Amino acid sequence: MRRALLPLLAALGLGACAPAPSTPDDGRVHVVTTVNMLGDLARQLGGERVRVTGLMGPGVDPHLYKASAGDVRRLAGADLVLYGGLHLEGKMVDVLHALGTRTTSVALFETLPRERLLGPPGTPDPHVWFDPTLWAGVARAAAQALTQVDPAGREVYAANLRRYLGELEQLDRWSAAQFRTVPERQRVLVTAHDAFQYLARRYGLEVRGVQGLSTVAEASGVRVRDLAAFLDERDIRAVFLESTVSPRTLEAVREAARARGHAVALGGSLYADAAGDPGTPEGTVTGMIRHNVRTIVAGLTPEARR
Ligand SMILES: [Zn+2]
Repeated sequence: MRRALLPLLAALGLGACAPAPSTPDDGRVHVVTTVNMLGDLARQLGGERVRVTGLMGPGVDPHLYKASAGDVRRLAGADLVLYGGLHLEGKMVDVLHALGTRTTSVALFETLPRERLLGPPGTPDPHVWFDPTLWAGVARAAAQALTQVDPAGREVYAANLRRYLGELEQLDRWSAAQFRTVPERQRVLVTAHDAFQYLARRYGLEVRGVQGLSTVAEASGVRVRDLAAFLDERDIRAVFLESTVSPRTLEAVREAARARGHAVALGGSLYADAAGDPGTPEGTVTGMIRHNVRTIVAGLTPEARR
């Protein structure tokens, strides 16, 4: 055990002599990931060569997640730690940085070219999984990291990467075609959270958040009325829930629109900062994006619904 981790483990009451985590000796590369999108990515690229332990499951908010003592042990026992960075795991920064010298760990989103990231210079927007062309860059960096810790798997990782990049290209083309079916002035995504800026940029959507960047502050009455007027004027038919955010403010906007004689539906629930349940299509990044695109397009074009 290297020095960098000692204060951390001590602070967590684990002490310097905490036993090494019991890692089954199955010859596979043990990858520990934070958000479940990265767990999916590690499995897509690593296949049978890797054993993936994900710290955050479906419905978990990575901005608020704090590492447990068990998580720190899992991270310390990994062959490779893959995380997002860009402060996505805002409460885990110290833990992840302390790992830097002990375990191979890679902040995958921080490998992307800065000019392709959105947000203010000091704090880029970390929600990069919603642009398949950015996610392709993340996948390349992940394959490189896997190859670094397991050079014997080089060809497997390269082949899986090629297949996965093909899937992302297909997803990107499909998504663009789907959004083109929505009249241009109605391509507006109203949600409660700030997760969809990359999706919006890639496919030419406008995004409007009811509460702005933080979900802490209540939306003001003026903001609610302005948004209702905007929905009415632009003939926007739906606003969208996220599985982790209360529908209350969206309800207030719908009510205000109704008062103007404009009906706005709840367009269904989108996956934002976590993929769905493992073993379901939405448990993968490509599946969660497909779900979101279908949900948004169907909500914005109710007349086209079969
Ligand atoms: Zn977020």
